[in-house]
Amino acid sequence: MTEKLFSDVEYNYKLIEQRISEAAEKTGRKRDDITFLAATKTVDVEVINYAISLGLKYIGENRVQELLSKYERYDLDNASLQFIGHLQTNKVRQIVDKVDLIQSVDSVKLAKEISKQSEKHGITSDILIEVNIGDEDSKSGIDASSVYELIDEIKDFPNISVKGLMCIPPICDSPQKNSKFFDKMNNIFIDISAKNIDNISMDILSMGMSADYYEAILSGANMVRVGSSLFGARDYQR
Ligand SMILES: *Cc1c(COP(=O)(O)O)cnc(C)c1O
Repeated sequence: MTEKLFSDVEYNYKLIEQRISEAAEKTGRKRDDITFLAATKTVDVEVINYAISLGLKYIGENRVQELLSKYERYDLDNASLQFIGHLQTNKVRQIVDKVDLIQSVDSVKLAKEISKQSEKHGITSDILIEVNIGDEDSKSGIDASSVYELIDEIKDFPNISVKGLMCIPPICDSPQKNSKFFDKMNNIFIDISAKNIDNISMDILSMGMSADYYEAILSGANMVRVGSSLFGARDYQR
């Protein structure tokens, strides 16, 4: 681990903090109204824990195997661990007692399994519904038009609690172009909120990544998930 990497992470962390504050203020909110989650796939635990020592409070992993292999070493006394990747039903039991939030629920089957496994541990798992806001064939997430149907089918599952929505919009050549997807998400978020459905609270709107977290906050995001802007480009070969 080089000094250079640590000093880069520190520099990036401060810069991101500053931009989050700025975007929050532009929308009449405060820095503390926005949750900064670091997407930590491929990142060494030493580097993740260094970011936590700087003040980072939320980390998110994408892959079950990677999360498990790093799990004992994260500084979880000082940060909350979440799952943000595509989750296969048969892997739910491996992580359900280890994460504070599962952001990527997009089917009744997955929600049912999370509830079932949570029951075994005597816990209630907080989840977000992942919306395929760009209606892309290749993406996970539920279609925007089916969100209400999903909510209706999972709202009575005893051991899950729906806390909000998450999305990964299509790859655009400029962050501004993503604003229309972020605005669409925010509209759905507000619409569901207004319906006051039992066991469904709209506390968290998780959207915006390295390229577009600023725009996402302007469109109403209160959680951003930033990876490469904090840790540098990912090396998937390691
Ligand atoms: C990797 C990842 C991110 C962060 O992506 P960057 O562009 O590196 O900031 C955010 N959300 C999810 C679900 C991811 O997998």
